[in-house]
Amino acid sequence: MAAVLAETAGGWYLETHSGEREAPAREDAFLLHVQELVTPQQFNTWFRHITLEELRDQGVRLLVPNLFVRDWVSNYYSDILALAVRRAFGEDRSISLAVDPLAPPPPRLDVATTMSMGTQSVATPMFVDTLDRSSDTVLHEDYTFANFVVGSSNRFAYAAASAVAEAPGKSYNPFFLHGSVGLGKTHLLQAVCHQILERDPSTLMLYLSCEAFINQFISSLENNALSTFRHKYRNVDVLLIDDIHLLANKERTQEEFFHTFNTLYNLGRQIVLTSDAPPKEIPTLQERLVSRFKMGMVVEVGTPDFETRVNILRNKARLRGQTLPDDVAHFTAENVSTNIRELEGAVVRLLAYSSLVKQPLNVELAREVLADSMSTRTTAISIQDVVSIVTRFFNVKLSDLQSKRRNQSIAYPRQIGMYLARKHTRLSLEEIGGYFGGRDHTTVLYAIEKIKKMIDREAAKADLIHRLERDIGL
Ligand code: ADP
Ligand code: MG
Repeated sequence: MAAVLAETAGGWYLETHSGEREAPAREDAFLLHVQELVTPQQFNTWFRHITLEELRDQGVRLLVPNLFVRDWVSNYYSDILALAVRRAFGEDRSISLAVDPLAPPPPRLDVATTMSMGTQSVATPMFVDTLDRSSDTVLHEDYTFANFVVGSSNRFAYAAASAVAEAPGKSYNPFFLHGSVGLGKTHLLQAVCHQILERDPSTLMLYLSCEAFINQFISSLENNALSTFRHKYRNVDVLLIDDIHLLANKERTQEEFFHTFNTLYNLGRQIVLTSDAPPKEIPTLQERLVSRFKMGMVVEVGTPDFETRVNILRNKARLRGQTLPDDVAHFTAENVSTNIRELEGAVVRLLAYSSLVKQPLNVELAREVLADSMSTRTTAISIQDVVSIVTRFFNVKLSDLQSKRRNQSIAYPRQIGMYLARKHTRLSLEEIGGYFGGRDHTTVLYAIEKIKKMIDREAAKADLIHRLERDIGL
């Protein structure tokens, strides 16, 4: 029965197609209001399964399927809930959230218990036989959920990844994980592999880098083996591709991937992708792929806060059978980097050095060992930092960079500025374009791509960029 919301003096009612008034269906009204306030994706993910109970004391209880949804919704959507309840009831009501006792058993998503410090193991990569032969990548045995330290920057990514591993193809499809380099995307992707294999070793899983996908596609074209290629990719239960942003500028491969994606998706097979940028910011990615990637769950891993960095450092030492003294862990977390890969490198050096010189670790020793990896900056880089280095180096004025002038002596520094701003600040393409004279995001993308290509092709240009980065204080 078609139903629309109708407002009357008495509040909101559901109006059926015949125009008759039904008793106010608070729950439906509530959900419809939520639907108006959030995106369809948010609605499907968080609100679709909420049921509403009216309590005797005039309060409202919302029943959610699991603890994770409860925590997430109450942390991030409490305003929305309050507003939707106010609109549905015509007045404010107190709201409580509870896990629905009748809900199907939740996936293991209790975030309170996910702070895991891992077990001891040796950091050697290993092959997993059940992965499809053509997986070019080996699974690292440490890259498990148990060894993944959860903090505010990655809590959601962790939870979503474990939901995917619990029910491949059923929870979030595709699952698209993005974030800067060294923040744990590959780790989480492999954790999904480990977990799926553990639950069901017969799963046909294909985990590979985007480069491998591209190379295999190209060589199948060259060898007239396209149908074998297609057969292989379109028959897996789970396809995981790391660094999918490398599809940028690969027209033919994008085309092929689009069809692979559709086939798997329509069969209900799980697709997991990682990228250094969200779908719409991957340069030259076809719009139809962008919209496919956004169909499921898009999650960002952010930079870890201090506390998480400390936990990661301790965890990495523990994986190597050692303990980091608190002050050393704090010192390192404070001074080295927010990049987890670099934090890990620091731990390795600290432990190696202290065993070499047979001295216990302390802050003094750490200061010595880590001297050259300590970031000279303590504050975040701003676009002004970037611009002041660029203008000084190229001897141009900020007003030139922001002007409409397009001759090479201005356009080139402008493009470098855009590239550096994108790489080292958290500004969006739109914001960067705005700063450089109100240019739109495609202009910024174009600039970034151009500089990236230049760096790849010419060592001298790569050196120039490094030098500018050093001047910024990186
Ligand atoms: P990315 O793929 O995002 O560039 P990786 O997944 O390769 O980053 O992570 C870099 C290193 O940091 C890996 O050794 C990984 O184990 C470690 N790492 C990243 N995030 C975490 C985390 N939350 N807990 C423990 N280790 C982490
Ligand atoms: Mg990676």
